[in-house]
Amino acid sequence: MAAEAPNSGAEAVLPESSAAGGDGRAPAAGARDKPVCLIVLGMAGSGKTTFVQRLTAHLHTQKSPPYVINLDPAVHEVPFPANIDIRDTVNYKEVMKQYGLGPNGGIVTSLNLFATRFDQVMQFIEKKQQNHRFVLIDTPGQIEVFTWSASGTIITEALASSFPCVVIYVMDTSRSVSPVTFMSNMLYACSILYKTKLPFIVVMNKTDIIDHSFAVEWMQDFEVFQDALNQETSYVSNLTRSMSLVLDEFYTNLRVVGVSAVTGSGLDQLFAQVEDAAEEYERDYRPEYERLRQQLTEAQSRKQQQQLDRLRKDLGAVEMSSTPSAEEADIAGPSDLIMTRGNQDDGEEEEDSDTDDIDHTVTEESKEGDAFGNFLKERKEVVQVRNRKCAMPPNP
Ligand code: GDP
Ligand code: MG
Repeated sequence: MAAEAPNSGAEAVLPESSAAGGDGRAPAAGARDKPVCLIVLGMAGSGKTTFVQRLTAHLHTQKSPPYVINLDPAVHEVPFPANIDIRDTVNYKEVMKQYGLGPNGGIVTSLNLFATRFDQVMQFIEKKQQNHRFVLIDTPGQIEVFTWSASGTIITEALASSFPCVVIYVMDTSRSVSPVTFMSNMLYACSILYKTKLPFIVVMNKTDIIDHSFAVEWMQDFEVFQDALNQETSYVSNLTRSMSLVLDEFYTNLRVVGVSAVTGSGLDQLFAQVEDAAEEYERDYRPEYERLRQQLTEAQSRKQQQQLDRLRKDLGAVEMSSTPSAEEADIAGPSDLIMTRGNQDDGEEEEDSDTDDIDHTVTEESKEGDAFGNFLKERKEVVQVRNRKCAMPPNP
């Protein structure tokens, strides 16, 4: 298994990790009392899964095994030992079949289904938090499934309200050598930074193919980037130039690390940046999350709970397989994580009072919750009609 693989090339030693005892427990002195969650995002093929695999292997050699969560329902094989695997809870193929969905719809729906049970995942992590310095979260191949869905927000916010969280944006450096492509990638990173509102690290992956120094230079020296743009034979509009000016501001406070998930190079710098980002979370983000939590009135949280419950009820008819492998069954968690009908008490419907302080995320999500419920119902009907047609003898 990947975690046992030799840690090729990575001599990175985390100060705290190197002090860890042989029992795999996190060191106590000067350490955080909570693990840092690394939410790994990036375009399909950028190397997220390979990166999580590499980090897992690295942390194992540091005697600080991470708590690893796979959120990609469609992945064939998870190349790292996952403590929680969405595939144990949601049968992606079955979701496609039952709701008559294609691969993309199946992935989005599976993640939505899983999000309705994320409170259980939180409990598992909280139970194990003393044993781990890091929680690694691999996300679905297609980035928008996580970053532009209610489920991604639910999961991110649940994690970030309990643990220091850092977003790791993995990009394929070898496919960003064109200045326009590079800029598009950075604009995407920028949008995710604003969407997730969490400390952020850009991992320029695949440095074994091409060194990332060209990109760093583009980010540090506007003139150099403009020169590169000028050499582009393709159509480069004024807009592109203006956009790069905008990005200049984004670059100034951005953490960037060159990494090869394949060879393991760059991990020492990465962990230094992770420590820095975790401190930023504690300093700038935690107070904000705590303020939000206090602000979230009881009525609001009850309403959120109702949204989740309604979603769960809509899912009542879905049969979710839960067949963890023997190895996974040993790890407390996945085997208990079974989709069931909502079992929370239904609170009384309470209307929100008019207030200037509307939490738009909650509003968006609640709408999306309803829409998702309707969507599932409609899909079910479509499938039922289709099945009836199939069962009928063909017309002569
Ligand atoms: P994901 O879709 O973002 O999870 O990407 P994967 O981890 O599945 O990787 C996509 C492809 O990129 C695979 O063929 C990997 O072997 C390859 N890959 C990932 N990281 C690296 C790297 O650091 N260097 C090289 N050369 N290839 C990589
Ligand atoms: Mg992947």
